[in-house]
Amino acid sequence: MENWDKLSKMPYKDIKEMQDRKLRAFIGNQIYLYSPYYSKLLKDHKIDPLKIKGIEDLKHLPFTYKWDIAPTDDNPKKHKDFVIRPDEEVTEKYGHLAKMSMTGGKDMVEDRVYDFKPVHIHFTTGRTALPTPFVYSKRDLENLRESGTRLMNVFQFTNKDIFINCFPFAPHLAFWTSYFGAEKMNVAGFHSGGGKIVGTNNLMDAFEYMRPTVSVFIPGYCYYFLREAVKQGRDFSSIKKIFFGGERVPPGLKDKIKELLTQLGAEDVMVLATYGMTEAKVAWGECPSHDEYFGYHTYPDMEVFETIDPESGEPVGEGEEGEVVYTAIDWRGTAVLRYRTGDIAKGGLLYEPCPNCGRTVPRISSNIQRKSEMKEFSMTKVKGTLVNLNNFFPLLMSHPDVEEWQVEMRKRNNDPFDLDEIVLYVAPMGDINRDSFVADIKQKVLRDTEVSLTDVIFKSVPELIAQLGMETELKEKRIVDKRPTT
Ligand SMILES: [Zn+2]
Repeated sequence: MENWDKLSKMPYKDIKEMQDRKLRAFIGNQIYLYSPYYSKLLKDHKIDPLKIKGIEDLKHLPFTYKWDIAPTDDNPKKHKDFVIRPDEEVTEKYGHLAKMSMTGGKDMVEDRVYDFKPVHIHFTTGRTALPTPFVYSKRDLENLRESGTRLMNVFQFTNKDIFINCFPFAPHLAFWTSYFGAEKMNVAGFHSGGGKIVGTNNLMDAFEYMRPTVSVFIPGYCYYFLREAVKQGRDFSSIKKIFFGGERVPPGLKDKIKELLTQLGAEDVMVLATYGMTEAKVAWGECPSHDEYFGYHTYPDMEVFETIDPESGEPVGEGEEGEVVYTAIDWRGTAVLRYRTGDIAKGGLLYEPCPNCGRTVPRISSNIQRKSEMKEFSMTKVKGTLVNLNNFFPLLMSHPDVEEWQVEMRKRNNDPFDLDEIVLYVAPMGDINRDSFVADIKQKVLRDTEVSLTDVIFKSVPELIAQLGMETELKEKRIVDKRPTT
């Protein structure tokens, strides 16, 4: 990998040359030889790996979709074909070499183990599909560590900061990026596991005792945690930055979080978003700013991004709306090429130097319609209409009268052949006029999702917290499909 400071200042022309070179080497020396899936794909499509000279030639490769990798009941080990694995060759060729030369051979075997042997693993969070494993070798873990420090560097985070990691312990990018990044930077950190592990009250005590300047959260849990802290009159005045991972952050939620932090004594807190995906094995940070959005700074020595028209698959121009497509160029372990993320970058990809910080690495525009955190759910037929369930998030997360909420899809009388029903459970913020609230919310749901709510059911905050699994689930259950399968 390259030096981040140098890379951040390199003219884009030089960055692209480096990417062309790395892509050529990656396809020729790793993918074509050792990736069972892509090696077959190249042969099946009669693509000569030597013809891929640079990122313009990526278009000759077919796309890879989530379902190409995800295990199925018929083929539970599909994901293994995406792992760069010269194992057979290592034993045959290098095992032999090791015998020939006690020192040289041993070093070579150690190098190969460092490069290729899977030592760490993350899983995608499929809600209906089976979770897909993505493996890291030791060499890959160096990339993960480096990506964590780059993300923190973008967020202007230093080793003087004190850090509390509130992501749940899980085989997921969010927790481990925070852990490895902070560790590599020598930051004093408490990797708590969140309320699910240490308990919400103990976590609040830790905030008052350690006085962290930076903390990381899953957005829904953060909102809950800060509200509880306000109720208890806690002092969180040390906090300067909060950054989120794990899911999309609706802009209205950022404002609610800032307001709660003000009540806890923390002024001018920056609430920052990250974009990441298990498939890319790293996360990227949004350039920090109080009110403008400058996009996510990517790592061009590790990956190449394209943006395409999601219908035709054709590339779109710089700054134009398109689906984000990811290609690994310097990884071992699991590596995917031209992976269709399903995420739409509204403002596209940007190659101009960042107007906020001057970094020259390519940026993905801030406004990403993230579908991947709930891809299987994002478009669902309810009452015969295709509903974009993502639209519930900005509406309800930003609504001033809503403290907590959950959407449930069910069948009338629990009969699989009866009508679909869609119910909103809501804990209102303070005393509200319930009738006018119901009328308002029904109209807004119809406007934003094109379906009408069957019912609005009022709940207390503790009831909803339990229903959402806020303290027990990895991510709270915002949208629940209780319709029986036929
Ligand atoms: Zn920037």
